[in-house]
This record gives sequence, structure tokens and C-alpha cells, in this order.
Amino acid sequence: MQAVLTVDLDAVAANWRLLRDRAAPGRVAGVVKADAYGLGAAAVGRALVAAGCRDFFVAHLAEGMALRAAIGPGPSIAVLNGFAPGRDEDAGLLPVLNGLGDVAAWAAAAAVAGRQLPVLLHVDTGMARLGLPPAELEALAADPTRLTGLALQAVMTHLACADAPEHPLNAEQSARFAAIRARLPAAPASFANSSGLFLGPGFASDLARPGCALYGINPTPGRPNPMRQAVTLAAPVLQVREVPAGTPVGYGAGWAAPRPSRIATVAAGYADGYLRSLSGRAVGMVRGRPAPLVGRVSMDLITFDVTDLPALQPGEMVQLIGPGNTPDEVAERAGTIGYEILTGLGGRYRRDYRAA
Ligand SMILES: *Cc1c(COP(=O)(O)O)cnc(C)c1O
Repeated sequence: MQAVLTVDLDAVAANWRLLRDRAAPGRVAGVVKADAYGLGAAAVGRALVAAGCRDFFVAHLAEGMALRAAIGPGPSIAVLNGFAPGRDEDAGLLPVLNGLGDVAAWAAAAAVAGRQLPVLLHVDTGMARLGLPPAELEALAADPTRLTGLALQAVMTHLACADAPEHPLNAEQSARFAAIRARLPAAPASFANSSGLFLGPGFASDLARPGCALYGINPTPGRPNPMRQAVTLAAPVLQVREVPAGTPVGYGAGWAAPRPSRIATVAAGYADGYLRSLSGRAVGMVRGRPAPLVGRVSMDLITFDVTDLPALQPGEMVQLIGPGNTPDEVAERAGTIGYEILTGLGGRYRRDYRAA
């Protein structure tokens, strides 16, 4: 008996269309790095292409190659972490240039090739992660011939605090981005991630880069979630047993039944991305009713107190992620963010894709 991860591609496509409508007249890409946040980049990529998406972002070169094989030659695929010239083996991937070293390498490759090479330029406006830092920007603005041979498909930057609308860094990054673009050759701008699309008109650009919201994570934390849920995870009950009051359950005997109890052991664990920090803090939904997780999360097993539920049989499915325990809610209980819950989803599930 196996756990089942159901991905609603129709919901992913509907989420993309909602964001597309918000961002118009700007275009909206699909960020499908990390295997589309754990949902499956090939299936998600094809569903987004069918919905009208023409621009994709991945993190790694290998992710870009796999996506190209899945979605065919038309759409653009940009590689956020960049890659060296000549490495994409004709997959037609776009490098994101994250520093002057990248700019020099690609300009040299363009000179050798004797033609313009399409690239994206990433500038840092307040994250100190990737992207040209201020000193490199000064050098580039002072000598724009460094960009000779490079066809800028976009100049992009990334928001550090888009999920906190009141944070002053948002407006600062917006102002810095505008100032930087004015000093560089004209090119389309790429700015907002999912949450950035909800920050207001100052964060609009030619190409938004949402990821998490496509997959149902709330881009407006603390406010109602405008996105549709795309992921359901259910795992089967392996055994149900009656235990007397005082019986310890699981590793470390960390929980003991306070009353005569019925315990259901379910086939999922931290090796499946069901985080150990959920021990004693999560709920499983059984026929729409919550059952508390008791004891520690083990590698392959978890235990639920189902004393107050109608009798369960082995083989019955317990919903671990879905309505009543969305990725955001599970994340809150685990002390993390929905992104980590989704990207951590393991490889031992059967995957069911609901067609878009
Ligand atoms: C991951 C990522 C995104 C997407 O962010 P979400 O918050 O998931 O919408 C956009 N841009 C860059 C540079 C990223 O790394």
C-alpha cells in the first residue's frame, strides 16, 4: 500500500491565469525550479504551456534541459543560477548573468560565435544573494561596451520581503531597480515573484516570475488565499490497534495515551518529506474529520489518535495535505514555510495528475 500524491494541473493552470490577469499588460512566466516545487516540472510545464505560458524559469541547467525535453522548442527557459557558455547543448536555454564575470564570459562567447547571444541580466537591489552588486553595476554603467554581443532579453531583480507588504525594503528595491534600469541599455524588466504581484503598481514589470502561488501557496500571508489548492497527499492506514491508558506510542515514548485509545499507523514519514518537526503537532483528515498526530514522526511511519473517529480499516487513506491541512497550514505547524513542505515531497508516492 502506497501513499498517493495528487496534483491538480487544472488548479495550477487556473492559478497561472489568475496571475496573468493581475499582471496584464505585463507577461507572466512560470517558475518551475526544484521540479516545480515538488509537483513535477514536466507535467506542470506542459499544463502551463497549454494555459498560454511562454516563459519559464528553472534554477539549474539540468532542470532546464529536462524541461526543454518536456515542453518542446517554443517557450523560453531561463536558468536562474546561470551556466557557462556552450553548456546547454542546443537546448536553447537562456543564462541569467549574476555578476560581471558571467557578463565577460558570455560577451567573449558572443565574440567567438560572431553573433548576438540572448541573456538575462540579474541586478541585486537589496538581497546580497545573486545578481550584480552595486560596485559591479557602477563598472557596467561606466562601460556599457562590456555588454557588446549580448542581447538582453530582460533585466531582472528579486524582492527580499515581498510577503511582508509593509516592509520598507520593498519600496527601496523598487526605486533602486528603476534607477539601475535607467543607467543600462533599454531592455524588458522582470521584477515581481508571487507575492510581489500583490504589492501594487510599483512592482509591475514586463515579466513577472511567480512560483509558489501557482502551486497553491498563499502569496498574501495573513489575508485570504486567492489561489486554488493544487496538492493532496494521502497515505494508507497499515494497522489500527486499541491501547490501554498509559501506553507509550512511538520513538522516545514521547507520547502516552491519556485514556484507552485507538491508534492508526500510517505509511508515511520524514523520508517522504513529512517533517519530523510535525511530531505531536499535525492533523490527518479522515473522511473530512481531523485526527491528531501523536508520538514522533518516524522515517516511514506516523501514528494518529483515531479514538474519536468512526472505526477505520487498514487500507483507508488518511489525508496528510489537502483541505483542512493545506501546505501553508502544515508548514505553520512544522515551523517552516509552505515552499519547504512542497519541495520536500518525497519520491515514494504514486503520483496522480489530474489533467488540465
Ligand atoms: C524562486 C524565485 C522566484 C519565484 O518566487 P515565488 O516566491 O515562489 O513566487 C522568482 N524569482 C527568483 C529569482 C527566484 O529565485
